[in-house]
Amino acid sequence: MNSTKKIFLTLGVIVMLPALFYSVYEISSLDETEEMIGQMYGRQLDAILFSVNQHILDVASSWATQIENELPKNAFDRIITANPSITSIIVTDTSCTTTHVFPVDRREYTEQLQKHFEIIDRLIRYRTLSYRKLEPVIDSDSTLVILFAPSIAPSNIIGIVVHTDRFIQSVVGKKLTDIAQNDFLLTVTKRSDGQTVFSTAPKSAGIFSHQRKLWIFPDHVVNIRLKGVTIEEAARGRFHRNIILIVILDIVLLAGAWFVYRLIRREMELVALKSDFVSNVSHELRTPLALIRMFTETLEMKRVKTEKKKREYYSIILHETERLTRLINNILNFSRMESKTRRYSFTPIKINDVIASVMTIYSYQLEKLNFTVETMLEENIPFIQADEEAIAEALHNLIDNAIKYSGEEKFIRITSQHTRQHVQISIHDHGIGIAPEHHAKIFEKFYRVSRGLVHTAKGSGLGLAIVQHIVQSHGGTISITSEHGKGSAFVITLPLTKER
Ligand code: ADP
Repeated sequence: MNSTKKIFLTLGVIVMLPALFYSVYEISSLDETEEMIGQMYGRQLDAILFSVNQHILDVASSWATQIENELPKNAFDRIITANPSITSIIVTDTSCTTTHVFPVDRREYTEQLQKHFEIIDRLIRYRTLSYRKLEPVIDSDSTLVILFAPSIAPSNIIGIVVHTDRFIQSVVGKKLTDIAQNDFLLTVTKRSDGQTVFSTAPKSAGIFSHQRKLWIFPDHVVNIRLKGVTIEEAARGRFHRNIILIVILDIVLLAGAWFVYRLIRREMELVALKSDFVSNVSHELRTPLALIRMFTETLEMKRVKTEKKKREYYSIILHETERLTRLINNILNFSRMESKTRRYSFTPIKINDVIASVMTIYSYQLEKLNFTVETMLEENIPFIQADEEAIAEALHNLIDNAIKYSGEEKFIRITSQHTRQHVQISIHDHGIGIAPEHHAKIFEKFYRVSRGLVHTAKGSGLGLAIVQHIVQSHGGTISITSEHGKGSAFVITLPLTKER
């Protein structure tokens, strides 16, 4: 496994695993949290409904107290007038044989009450324990009788006849409206037929989260739910939002890890390229130095007999010195470029003159290597504002490459032409060519296509980076058209400026 893959795996383990664990943990704990919230909320609703029952009991108890107070005189008119929910008050004996109804009612309760002798017995037992219990009996249509055993009259049993709907709508309804405010919807429904007797707001869609039997009205239940969004809906919404957040977090982490991985990979590639660069440059320096030394020694020992041979050796020495100078210049210029201290001095130049003088330098070498050279320079190209030395350096690098990567067919064509706004110089070869995937990368520093001939052709990987820097500093562009195995064409386009 290579080191970039190891880094990627390490990043994955360091960043992604905790994130994934966290996500899974969060998702599973979200359920528990919601259940807890649901339970807490349920208990609260229960408490509310309990308080409703308590209130009803309080009202009934206060009636019982008032009735007990009036019992000696049987003067219940005031109580009945003050409480429209009370239809009448029944006073009977413990065996329910003599029953009085106030105000006088034609209804006969004796028989009905007698059926509830067990309840009456219980009430009497409670009374002996000094506890006044209230018990609903005879729950029919809209009437309910609440029985209790008064403490001041041991031989009596009292029944409060309540108009159920009226009581629920006025007494219970008021309490429910107080509780409901704008937050809850509370209703009272009949258990037998599901009919709504009271509602704090017009009926709306939605399921009631809680329901409780009314202690005093056994056939009625009170229902409660949140208005608008229910707690379950809110919890579900929160759950979905949290899941989305967790997913986004995971994606961001994943993207971050991928980004860091790419940065590291790039840096490692650069480190590898730099180390290639050092070995390439050492080789590039050593070869011309060895040649110069060898030919100088041969000449010095006067071993060369003919003048022609001597001239040949001198020209080899000169050529190798030039190669060395160019390499060292390239490195120096590159380091200036990197530290952004490279300066260009712009003067009006004739591009064809620069091309011609560069070609003159290469003429000997090109001839020796049997190159077919085509130079097609358009006449009357106007002056351009440029740094002559830098443009020559760019051309040197491109021609060097055309020679270095020439392959079988030794061919080079240099052209120049101009449009209204630009001057174009192209260097065309029939060399080894460059596959499309390398086209953009070859302009990066240290980048070399490591395949085929390139292995044997030594270089620093700086040439095209320098060319691009020079061209761009002149406000121009450089483009490449190349096919692997067929050759390449580099085209420099520079802006045309007026002759100064
Ligand atoms: P160097 O030539 O020192 O390696 P350059 O920056 O000049 O560095 O070129 C970068 C790479 O682009 C070269 O290593 C080579 O693979 C490729 N290249 C450049 N010019 C040519 C060309 N004319 N034909 C084929 N390949 C080329």
